[in-house]
Amino acid sequence: MALVREIEALAGEMTAWRRDIHAHPELGFQETRTAAFVSSELKKFGIEVHQGVGKTGVVGVLKSGSSKRTVGLRADMDALPIAEANTFAHKSTRPGVMHACGHDGHTTMLLGAAKYLAATRKFDGTVHFIFQPAEEGIGGAKAMIDDGLFRRFPCEAVFGMHNRPGMPLGRFAVRSGPMMAGGAFFDIDIEGVGSHGARPESGVDPVLVAAHVTAALQSIVARNVRPVDTAVLSVTQIHSGDAYNVIPQRARLSGTARCFSNEVMALIERNLKRLAESVAQGFGAKATTDFRVTFPPLLNHPQEAEFAASICNDIVGAENVRRDPPLIMASEDFAFMLNEVPGCYINVGNGDGEGACEVHNPSYDFNDRANPYGASFFARLVEQRLRVGL
Ligand SMILES: [Zn+2]
Ligand SMILES: [Zn+2]
Repeated sequence: MALVREIEALAGEMTAWRRDIHAHPELGFQETRTAAFVSSELKKFGIEVHQGVGKTGVVGVLKSGSSKRTVGLRADMDALPIAEANTFAHKSTRPGVMHACGHDGHTTMLLGAAKYLAATRKFDGTVHFIFQPAEEGIGGAKAMIDDGLFRRFPCEAVFGMHNRPGMPLGRFAVRSGPMMAGGAFFDIDIEGVGSHGARPESGVDPVLVAAHVTAALQSIVARNVRPVDTAVLSVTQIHSGDAYNVIPQRARLSGTARCFSNEVMALIERNLKRLAESVAQGFGAKATTDFRVTFPPLLNHPQEAEFAASICNDIVGAENVRRDPPLIMASEDFAFMLNEVPGCYINVGNGDGEGACEVHNPSYDFNDRANPYGASFFARLVEQRLRVGL
Protein backbone atom coordinates (compact mmCIF):
# COMPACT_ATOMS: atom_id res chain seq x y z
CA MET A 1 0.00 0.00 0.00
CA ALA A 2 1.85 3.06 -1.25
CA LEU A 3 2.40 5.43 -4.10
CA VAL A 4 4.60 4.12 -6.91
CA ARG A 5 8.11 5.03 -5.75
CA GLU A 6 9.43 5.94 -9.22
CA ILE A 7 6.40 8.19 -9.74
CA GLU A 8 6.98 9.97 -6.44
CA ALA A 9 10.45 10.70 -7.79
CA LEU A 10 8.80 12.39 -10.81
CA ALA A 11 6.87 14.84 -8.60
CA GLY A 12 9.12 17.81 -9.37
CA GLU A 13 9.01 17.18 -13.09
CA MET A 14 5.24 16.73 -13.03
CA THR A 15 4.83 20.03 -11.18
CA ALA A 16 6.89 21.77 -13.86
CA TRP A 17 4.78 20.25 -16.68
CA ARG A 18 1.55 21.11 -14.88
CA ARG A 19 2.52 24.73 -14.28
CA ASP A 20 3.69 25.14 -17.87
CA ILE A 21 0.33 23.84 -19.16
CA HIS A 22 -1.49 26.03 -16.63
CA ALA A 23 0.33 29.13 -17.88
CA HIS A 24 -0.67 28.33 -21.49
CA PRO A 25 -4.36 27.39 -21.39
CA GLU A 26 -6.25 26.66 -24.61
CA LEU A 27 -9.98 26.37 -25.25
CA GLY A 28 -11.59 23.23 -26.65
CA PHE A 29 -10.41 22.12 -30.11
CA GLN A 30 -7.70 24.82 -29.97
CA GLU A 31 -5.27 22.78 -27.82
CA THR A 32 -2.47 22.88 -30.39
CA ARG A 33 0.32 23.88 -28.01
CA THR A 34 -0.83 21.41 -25.36
CA ALA A 35 -1.17 18.60 -27.93
CA ALA A 36 2.32 19.39 -29.28
CA PHE A 37 3.74 19.35 -25.74
CA VAL A 38 2.05 16.03 -24.89
CA SER A 39 3.20 14.50 -28.20
CA SER A 40 6.80 15.59 -27.78
CA GLU A 41 6.97 14.26 -24.21
CA LEU A 42 5.41 10.92 -25.22
CA LYS A 43 7.94 10.59 -28.04
CA LYS A 44 10.78 11.32 -25.60
CA PHE A 45 9.51 8.42 -23.46
CA GLY A 46 9.63 6.14 -26.56
CA ILE A 47 5.84 5.99 -27.03
CA GLU A 48 4.24 5.84 -30.50
CA VAL A 49 2.18 9.02 -31.05
CA HIS A 50 -0.93 9.68 -33.17
CA GLN A 51 -1.96 13.33 -33.41
CA GLY A 52 -5.14 14.88 -34.80
CA VAL A 53 -7.51 12.19 -33.49
CA GLY A 54 -10.78 14.15 -33.07
CA LYS A 55 -9.20 17.42 -34.26
CA THR A 56 -6.66 18.24 -31.50
CA GLY A 57 -6.72 14.90 -29.66
CA VAL A 58 -3.58 12.77 -29.15
CA VAL A 59 -3.25 9.01 -28.63
CA GLY A 60 -0.05 7.36 -27.36
CA VAL A 61 0.43 3.63 -27.93
CA LEU A 62 2.75 1.61 -25.66
CA LYS A 63 3.16 -2.13 -26.15
CA SER A 64 4.99 -4.58 -23.93
CA GLY A 65 5.21 -8.37 -24.18
CA SER A 66 3.01 -10.39 -26.52
CA SER A 67 -0.45 -10.36 -24.94
CA LYS A 68 -3.39 -9.06 -27.00
CA ARG A 69 -4.94 -7.44 -23.92
CA THR A 70 -5.54 -3.68 -24.09
CA VAL A 71 -6.51 -0.84 -21.79
CA GLY A 72 -7.29 2.84 -22.39
CA LEU A 73 -6.43 5.70 -20.03
CA ARG A 74 -7.96 9.08 -20.69
CA ALA A 75 -7.15 12.66 -19.68
CA ASP A 76 -8.70 15.93 -20.89
CA MET A 77 -6.62 18.92 -22.07
CA ASP A 78 -8.91 21.95 -22.51
CA ALA A 79 -9.28 25.14 -20.46
CA LEU A 80 -12.22 27.49 -19.83
CA PRO A 81 -13.17 31.03 -20.94
CA ILE A 82 -12.56 32.48 -17.46
CA ALA A 83 -10.26 35.39 -16.54
CA GLU A 84 -7.85 34.02 -13.92
CA ALA A 85 -7.81 35.86 -10.57
CA ASN A 86 -4.61 34.17 -9.31
CA THR A 87 -1.37 36.14 -9.25
CA PHE A 88 1.19 33.33 -8.78
CA ALA A 89 4.05 32.89 -11.22
CA HIS A 90 2.35 30.16 -13.28
CA LYS A 91 -0.90 32.13 -13.79
CA SER A 92 -2.49 32.14 -17.25
CA THR A 93 -0.62 34.12 -19.89
CA ARG A 94 -3.75 34.18 -22.08
CA PRO A 95 -6.30 36.87 -21.18
CA GLY A 96 -9.74 35.44 -20.49
CA VAL A 97 -8.65 31.79 -20.69
CA MET A 98 -7.74 29.66 -17.70
CA HIS A 99 -7.29 26.07 -16.51
CA ALA A 100 -10.07 26.36 -13.91
CA CYS A 101 -11.08 22.69 -13.97
CA GLY A 102 -7.70 21.02 -13.41
CA HIS A 103 -7.37 19.48 -16.87
CA ASP A 104 -3.75 20.70 -16.72
CA GLY A 105 -3.37 18.30 -13.77
CA HIS A 106 -5.20 15.44 -15.49
CA THR A 107 -2.94 15.73 -18.54
CA THR A 108 0.10 15.83 -16.25
CA MET A 109 -0.92 12.76 -14.23
CA LEU A 110 -1.41 10.70 -17.41
CA LEU A 111 1.95 11.92 -18.77
CA GLY A 112 3.62 10.93 -15.48
CA ALA A 113 2.13 7.42 -15.69
CA ALA A 114 3.21 7.18 -19.35
CA LYS A 115 6.80 8.11 -18.49
CA TYR A 116 6.95 5.51 -15.73
CA LEU A 117 5.27 2.73 -17.76
CA ALA A 118 7.50 3.34 -20.79
CA ALA A 119 10.61 3.15 -18.60
CA THR A 120 9.62 0.09 -16.54
CA ARG A 121 7.31 -1.96 -18.82
CA LYS A 122 6.16 -4.29 -16.06
CA PHE A 123 3.04 -5.27 -18.01
CA ASP A 124 2.02 -7.51 -20.90
CA GLY A 125 -0.27 -5.93 -23.50
CA THR A 126 -1.06 -2.55 -25.04
CA VAL A 127 -1.81 0.74 -23.28
CA HIS A 128 -3.60 3.53 -25.15
CA PHE A 129 -2.99 6.95 -23.60
CA ILE A 130 -5.95 9.08 -24.71
CA PHE A 131 -5.48 12.86 -24.43
CA GLN A 132 -8.82 14.28 -25.44
CA PRO A 133 -9.69 17.83 -26.44
CA ALA A 134 -12.76 19.91 -25.65
CA GLU A 135 -14.28 18.25 -22.59
CA GLU A 136 -16.06 21.44 -21.48
CA GLY A 137 -19.34 21.05 -23.28
CA ILE A 138 -18.27 20.93 -26.91
CA GLY A 139 -17.91 17.25 -27.56
CA GLY A 140 -14.21 16.29 -27.59
CA ALA A 141 -14.81 12.67 -26.53
CA LYS A 142 -17.45 12.27 -29.20
CA ALA A 143 -15.15 13.83 -31.82
CA MET A 144 -12.45 11.26 -30.99
CA ILE A 145 -14.95 8.37 -31.08
CA ASP A 146 -16.36 9.61 -34.42
CA ASP A 147 -12.77 9.75 -35.68
CA GLY A 148 -12.43 6.02 -34.98
CA LEU A 149 -10.78 6.14 -31.54
CA PHE A 150 -11.86 2.68 -30.38
CA ARG A 151 -11.65 1.16 -33.86
CA ARG A 152 -8.08 2.34 -34.42
CA PHE A 153 -7.00 1.91 -30.78
CA PRO A 154 -9.15 -0.90 -29.35
CA CYS A 155 -9.58 -0.81 -25.57
CA GLU A 156 -11.05 -3.69 -23.55
CA ALA A 157 -11.73 -1.12 -20.86
CA VAL A 158 -11.18 2.60 -20.40
CA PHE A 159 -10.51 4.62 -17.26
CA GLY A 160 -10.56 8.34 -16.49
CA MET A 161 -10.25 10.62 -13.49
CA HIS A 162 -11.23 14.08 -12.25
CA ASN A 163 -9.82 16.01 -9.31
CA ARG A 164 -12.27 16.87 -6.55
CA PRO A 165 -11.72 20.07 -4.53
CA GLY A 166 -12.73 19.71 -0.91
CA MET A 167 -11.80 16.02 -0.86
CA PRO A 168 -8.57 15.58 1.13
CA LEU A 169 -5.33 14.87 -0.67
CA GLY A 170 -4.56 11.15 -0.78
CA ARG A 171 -8.20 10.11 -1.04
CA PHE A 172 -10.12 8.61 -3.95
CA ALA A 173 -13.84 8.26 -4.62
CA VAL A 174 -15.18 5.40 -6.76
CA ARG A 175 -18.84 4.68 -7.51
CA SER A 176 -20.47 1.87 -9.41
CA GLY A 177 -23.41 2.78 -11.68
CA PRO A 178 -24.57 6.39 -12.20
CA MET A 179 -22.04 8.96 -11.03
CA MET A 180 -22.54 12.18 -13.00
CA ALA A 181 -25.58 13.67 -14.64
CA GLY A 182 -26.50 13.72 -18.29
CA GLY A 183 -26.81 17.27 -19.54
CA ALA A 184 -28.81 19.20 -22.11
CA PHE A 185 -28.73 22.82 -23.26
CA PHE A 186 -31.86 24.56 -24.48
CA ASP A 187 -32.95 27.78 -26.16
CA ILE A 188 -36.52 29.06 -26.25
CA ASP A 189 -37.27 31.87 -28.70
CA ILE A 190 -40.39 33.88 -27.94
CA GLU A 191 -41.88 35.99 -30.68
CA GLY A 192 -44.18 38.79 -29.48
CA VAL A 193 -45.28 42.04 -31.08
CA GLY A 194 -43.13 45.08 -30.40
CA SER A 195 -44.70 48.38 -29.45
CA HIS A 196 -44.21 51.62 -27.51
CA GLY A 197 -43.45 51.03 -23.85
CA ALA A 198 -46.40 53.24 -22.91
CA ARG A 199 -48.83 51.48 -25.27
CA PRO A 200 -48.78 47.79 -24.22
CA GLU A 201 -52.30 47.25 -25.58
CA SER A 202 -50.98 47.44 -29.13
CA GLY A 203 -48.27 44.80 -28.65
CA VAL A 204 -47.61 41.33 -27.22
CA ASP A 205 -44.91 41.63 -24.55
CA PRO A 206 -42.30 38.87 -24.94
CA VAL A 207 -40.56 39.94 -21.70
CA LEU A 208 -43.67 39.12 -19.67
CA VAL A 209 -44.05 35.83 -21.57
CA ALA A 210 -40.40 34.97 -20.85
CA ALA A 211 -40.96 35.58 -17.13
CA HIS A 212 -44.02 33.30 -17.08
CA VAL A 213 -42.29 30.57 -19.09
CA THR A 214 -39.30 30.71 -16.69
CA ALA A 215 -41.56 30.25 -13.69
CA ALA A 216 -43.64 27.53 -15.38
CA LEU A 217 -40.55 25.49 -16.29
CA GLN A 218 -39.79 25.05 -12.59
CA SER A 219 -42.88 22.85 -12.32
CA ILE A 220 -41.26 20.14 -14.47
CA VAL A 221 -38.79 19.00 -11.81
CA ALA A 222 -41.17 19.86 -8.94
CA ARG A 223 -44.32 18.21 -10.38
CA ASN A 224 -43.48 15.92 -13.33
CA VAL A 225 -40.22 14.16 -12.42
CA ARG A 226 -40.69 11.40 -9.83
CA PRO A 227 -39.40 12.63 -6.46
CA VAL A 228 -37.04 9.62 -6.22
CA ASP A 229 -35.41 10.59 -9.52
CA THR A 230 -32.91 13.42 -9.45
CA ALA A 231 -33.05 16.26 -11.94
CA VAL A 232 -32.38 19.98 -12.25
CA LEU A 233 -33.59 22.51 -14.78
CA SER A 234 -32.06 26.00 -14.72
CA VAL A 235 -32.91 28.96 -16.90
CA THR A 236 -29.55 30.72 -16.95
CA GLN A 237 -30.08 33.44 -19.55
CA ILE A 238 -32.92 35.79 -20.53
CA HIS A 239 -32.18 38.21 -23.34
CA SER A 240 -34.58 40.82 -24.59
CA GLY A 241 -34.92 44.52 -25.26
CA ASP A 242 -32.55 47.46 -25.65
CA ALA A 243 -34.52 50.53 -24.53
CA TYR A 244 -36.56 51.88 -21.60
CA ASN A 245 -39.54 52.82 -23.71
CA VAL A 246 -39.77 49.94 -26.20
CA ILE A 247 -41.64 46.67 -25.71
CA PRO A 248 -39.36 44.41 -27.75
CA GLN A 249 -40.40 42.06 -30.51
CA ARG A 250 -38.73 38.93 -29.15
CA ALA A 251 -37.03 37.32 -26.15
CA ARG A 252 -34.73 34.35 -25.78
CA LEU A 253 -34.45 32.06 -22.76
CA SER A 254 -31.57 29.63 -22.45
CA GLY A 255 -30.50 27.14 -19.86
CA THR A 256 -29.54 23.62 -18.94
CA ALA A 257 -31.16 20.42 -17.68
CA ARG A 258 -29.35 17.59 -15.85
CA CYS A 259 -30.51 14.14 -14.75
CA PHE A 260 -29.29 10.55 -14.34
CA SER A 261 -31.33 8.62 -16.90
CA ASN A 262 -32.26 8.95 -20.54
CA GLU A 263 -35.97 8.48 -19.66
CA VAL A 264 -36.01 11.52 -17.35
CA MET A 265 -34.19 13.58 -19.98
CA ALA A 266 -36.85 12.70 -22.56
CA LEU A 267 -39.60 13.70 -20.11
CA ILE A 268 -37.93 17.07 -19.46
CA GLU A 269 -37.56 17.73 -23.18
CA ARG A 270 -41.21 16.85 -23.90
CA ASN A 271 -42.64 18.94 -21.07
CA LEU A 272 -40.36 21.93 -21.64
CA LYS A 273 -41.49 22.15 -25.26
CA ARG A 274 -45.17 21.78 -24.35
CA LEU A 275 -45.05 24.34 -21.52
CA ALA A 276 -43.07 26.95 -23.44
CA GLU A 277 -45.28 26.69 -26.52
CA SER A 278 -48.58 26.68 -24.66
CA VAL A 279 -47.69 29.41 -22.14
CA ALA A 280 -46.58 31.63 -25.02
CA GLN A 281 -49.73 30.81 -26.95
CA GLY A 282 -51.85 31.76 -23.93
CA PHE A 283 -50.35 35.26 -24.11
CA GLY A 284 -50.80 35.50 -27.87
CA ALA A 285 -47.08 34.99 -28.52
CA LYS A 286 -45.24 32.13 -30.20
CA ALA A 287 -42.43 30.03 -28.73
CA THR A 288 -40.02 27.74 -30.56
CA THR A 289 -37.72 25.47 -28.58
CA ASP A 290 -34.38 23.88 -29.34
CA PHE A 291 -33.36 21.19 -26.82
CA ARG A 292 -29.95 19.55 -27.31
CA VAL A 293 -28.72 16.63 -25.19
CA THR A 294 -24.98 17.35 -24.97
CA PHE A 295 -23.89 14.59 -22.53
CA PRO A 296 -25.37 11.23 -21.65
CA PRO A 297 -25.37 10.39 -17.93
CA LEU A 298 -22.03 8.94 -16.78
CA LEU A 299 -22.55 5.29 -15.83
CA ASN A 300 -19.63 3.35 -14.35
CA HIS A 301 -19.55 -0.36 -15.17
CA PRO A 302 -19.73 -2.43 -11.95
CA GLN A 303 -16.78 -4.79 -12.64
CA GLU A 304 -14.46 -1.99 -13.72
CA ALA A 305 -15.56 0.11 -10.72
CA GLU A 306 -14.60 -2.75 -8.37
CA PHE A 307 -11.29 -3.10 -10.16
CA ALA A 308 -10.58 0.66 -9.99
CA ALA A 309 -11.44 0.67 -6.28
CA SER A 310 -9.01 -2.21 -5.66
CA ILE A 311 -6.23 -0.17 -7.31
CA CYS A 312 -7.07 2.85 -5.14
CA ASN A 313 -7.05 0.58 -2.06
CA ASP A 314 -3.54 -0.56 -3.01
CA ILE A 315 -2.32 3.03 -3.18
CA VAL A 316 -3.98 4.75 -0.21
CA GLY A 317 -5.69 1.98 1.81
CA ALA A 318 -9.41 1.15 1.80
CA GLU A 319 -10.11 3.66 4.58
CA ASN A 320 -9.16 6.45 2.16
CA VAL A 321 -11.33 5.23 -0.72
CA ARG A 322 -14.90 6.47 -0.57
CA ARG A 323 -17.24 3.94 -2.22
CA ASP A 324 -20.53 5.83 -1.84
CA PRO A 325 -19.80 9.42 -2.88
CA PRO A 326 -22.91 11.49 -3.61
CA LEU A 327 -24.12 11.78 -7.20
CA ILE A 328 -22.66 14.77 -9.04
CA MET A 329 -25.04 17.07 -10.95
CA ALA A 330 -22.27 18.30 -13.27
CA SER A 331 -21.72 16.43 -16.54
CA GLU A 332 -18.64 14.85 -18.04
CA ASP A 333 -18.14 13.80 -21.62
CA PHE A 334 -16.15 10.68 -20.65
CA ALA A 335 -19.74 9.33 -20.50
CA PHE A 336 -19.57 8.99 -24.32
CA MET A 337 -16.56 6.68 -23.99
CA LEU A 338 -18.32 4.60 -21.31
CA ASN A 339 -21.21 4.16 -23.76
CA GLU A 340 -18.73 2.50 -26.16
CA VAL A 341 -16.56 0.33 -23.89
CA PRO A 342 -16.70 -0.78 -20.24
CA GLY A 343 -14.81 1.35 -17.80
CA CYS A 344 -14.87 3.59 -14.78
CA TYR A 345 -14.37 7.24 -13.91
CA ILE A 346 -13.02 8.09 -10.47
CA ASN A 347 -12.28 11.18 -8.39
CA VAL A 348 -8.95 12.05 -6.79
CA GLY A 349 -8.78 14.45 -3.85
CA ASN A 350 -7.48 17.94 -4.66
CA GLY A 351 -7.22 18.89 -0.98
CA ASP A 352 -9.56 20.27 1.66
CA GLY A 353 -7.37 23.24 2.62
CA GLU A 354 -5.02 24.09 -0.18
CA GLY A 355 -6.84 22.89 -3.31
CA ALA A 356 -10.34 23.34 -1.88
CA CYS A 357 -11.38 26.20 -4.19
CA GLU A 358 -14.14 24.87 -6.45
CA VAL A 359 -13.53 24.16 -10.11
CA HIS A 360 -14.72 26.80 -12.63
CA ASN A 361 -13.84 29.52 -10.06
CA PRO A 362 -11.35 32.24 -11.16
CA SER A 363 -9.17 31.48 -8.09
CA TYR A 364 -9.00 27.69 -8.67
CA ASP A 365 -5.65 25.95 -9.10
CA PHE A 366 -4.94 22.23 -9.48
CA ASN A 367 -3.01 20.92 -6.47
CA ASP A 368 0.38 19.63 -7.65
CA ARG A 369 0.58 17.36 -4.63
CA ALA A 370 -2.22 15.28 -6.18
CA ASN A 371 -0.07 14.43 -9.23
CA PRO A 372 1.67 11.37 -7.69
CA TYR A 373 -1.68 9.91 -6.58
CA GLY A 374 -3.35 10.16 -10.00
CA ALA A 375 -0.25 9.00 -11.87
CA SER A 376 0.19 6.05 -9.48
CA PHE A 377 -3.45 5.06 -10.04
CA PHE A 378 -2.98 4.94 -13.83
CA ALA A 379 0.35 3.10 -13.54
CA ARG A 380 -0.79 0.45 -11.03
CA LEU A 381 -3.99 -0.03 -13.00
CA VAL A 382 -2.00 -0.99 -16.11
CA GLU A 383 0.31 -3.31 -14.15
CA GLN A 384 -2.70 -5.13 -12.66
CA ARG A 385 -5.00 -5.12 -15.69
CA LEU A 386 -2.21 -6.28 -18.04
CA ARG A 387 -0.46 -8.40 -15.44
CA VAL A 388 2.61 -10.31 -16.66
CA GLY A 389 1.94 -14.05 -16.69
CA LEU A 390 -1.85 -13.76 -16.65
ZN1 LIG B 1 -14.99 21.68 -15.97
ZN1 LIG C 1 -13.21 19.15 -15.69
